Amino acid sequence: MSGLAPELEKLLVLQEREQRQMRLNKELGAWPNELKALEQKRAEVRAGAERKRLEAQNAEVERKKLELEAESHRAKVARYKVQQFETRKNEEFTALGTEIQREEKEVQEIEDRELDLMALGEKAKKDAAVEAEGAKVKEGELALKEEELKKKKTELETRLADLMKEIETLASGVEEGLLTKYRRIMANKKDVAVVSVEHGTNCGGCHMKLTQGSAIAAKSGKAGATCENCGRLLFWPVS
Ligand SMILES: [Zn+2]
Repeated sequence: MSGLAPELEKLLVLQEREQRQMRLNKELGAWPNELKALEQKRAEVRAGAERKRLEAQNAEVERKKLELEAESHRAKVARYKVQQFETRKNEEFTALGTEIQREEKEVQEIEDRELDLMALGEKAKKDAAVEAEGAKVKEGELALKEEELKKKKTELETRLADLMKEIETLASGVEEGLLTKYRRIMANKKDVAVVSVEHGTNCGGCHMKLTQGSAIAAKSGKAGATCENCGRLLFWPVS
């Protein structure tokens, strides 16, 4: 059996529940940011997969461009060969032969580049497939996390609703004048309104030395003793 006045005991229980309520509210307040972080991660995963997909696609587009280029050079070679076949002038025949050689060299170079690009394209395609697979797994994990997060929110809300009911009941049991005082201090300090006397001399809230009157009032166990510095309600700790 403690030596505390029943009113103070009730107030301490109420305060403990209200502090719990503050913590729950804080957790709930952080919830939207947690969800936002998750959505951002999801966007990053998707962007990563998309980037790899585009890389593979670009390699393929480049390769096709080269193919068309090679094709036009081959067409020139064919045309020059026909012209060469048709001409009767030696000079023109030689000039066309030089052109044909030049064009064929061009084709060879393009084909070499095409081969390189094909290898790059294959690698990009494989990378994109791996990335897409990884993204699928990560998105699955993120979906699970989102589920958990939503469940957590519901739980927090349920606990908060229960707590608020309990607080209402507890508050209705506290003497009105004392409750008003408590509420006013709590609204002002936002952390704790009823504090113990520390070392028999100091306020447990602001830690300042109490006046003798305050200390004696607290020790008497009556509700209503206050710290003259911070205004918090005082109680004498039960050893
Ligand atoms: Zn104080």
